[in-house]
Amino acid sequence: MIKLAHPDITPREIAAVTKVLKSGTLSLGPEVEAFEKAFARYVGRQHALAVSSGTSGLHLAVRGLGLKPGDEVITSPYSFIASVSCIRFEGARPVLADIDRQTLNLAPEQAARKVTRKTKALLPVDIFGLPADFKAFQALADKHQLHLIEDSCEALGAEYHGRRCGSFGAASVFGFYPNKQLTTGEGGMVLCDDDALYARMAAMRNQGRSSMGGWLAHHVLGYNYRMPELNAALGRVQLSRLKAILAKRKAVALRYRKLFAENLPDFQTLADFPGSKRSWFVFAILVPPALKGHKRDKLIMALQSSGIQSAHYFPALHLQPALKDLGYRVGDFPAAEDASMRSLAIPFHHQLTAADQERVVATIKRFV
Ligand SMILES: *Cc1c(COP(=O)(O)O)cnc(C)c1O
Repeated sequence: MIKLAHPDITPREIAAVTKVLKSGTLSLGPEVEAFEKAFARYVGRQHALAVSSGTSGLHLAVRGLGLKPGDEVITSPYSFIASVSCIRFEGARPVLADIDRQTLNLAPEQAARKVTRKTKALLPVDIFGLPADFKAFQALADKHQLHLIEDSCEALGAEYHGRRCGSFGAASVFGFYPNKQLTTGEGGMVLCDDDALYARMAAMRNQGRSSMGGWLAHHVLGYNYRMPELNAALGRVQLSRLKAILAKRKAVALRYRKLFAENLPDFQTLADFPGSKRSWFVFAILVPPALKGHKRDKLIMALQSSGIQSAHYFPALHLQPALKDLGYRVGDFPAAEDASMRSLAIPFHHQLTAADQERVVATIKRFV
């Protein structure tokens, strides 16, 4: 079986986690603090808070910025569900706007058309590791005095005009699920520059405790969104190896691109755009329009029976059963729906050999 994803774990990660296990300090210890410091420095932010998942990080950002019922937050229909759920957790309304057909990111001009008096924030996603158009989103946020939240969960190491993803807006979030560029098993990081926002999010992460009060003094409504020491130790080693991890992923991606260009030129692979440096998260392709929807799903099954995992990344969010009550319908976001019906993520990780990749492309070619 050629797997869709596989974490890049070395003896160094295993040693670091074992060391924590032997130390007896499994939570609220030095590993989390050291991971946060190193991560903030890497991304170029004042503050980083390690959390239990990317989703909990997004929730802290939304709640920390004071978004509440009645507020509208503009985001993308072509993303992972968490970028919309985090808005709903606080009873605010996700207002979706269509994506750009080339970048697959939220289109700034579409987002601009959705601004109303109730709009309080913009939440662009760096989809498939490609930076959103932050020059345009920052200008839109400034014009209407909106908070800007960056969902950079897929974009660790990506750059927009020389600046790292995760450094844009009032707050930004990363996720460390095992298919991400850096993994902690489960985990995430929420970053900001503002001291007061940081203090609010830190308290909410830790049962509403403040840095001044004691263990059983709870100042605000809080959650347990803490990252354990074991996961932070794993993340710290991953971060120290990140340059090598990203280079390996890029090499695999470029090999795929070449194979598609030579063998299946009407399949669209993720492109480069001027000013942006993509960080490779998954290798998603868009099948030709003639193969969209049902045929694409048959291709997924054909790959499966040849021992190759693949997946439909991403189904359009506005058509998800969980978001039905938002009232969106088929046809509302043609670009996102087209990408959704054509997208296919194929095996992508550092252990993939050139022979594996040739087999994946040859199997697709045979199906076509
Ligand atoms: C991975 C991801 C998240 C966070 O997911 P968790 O599983 O909660 O860590 C959020 N948004 C996007 C776009 C993601 O890809």
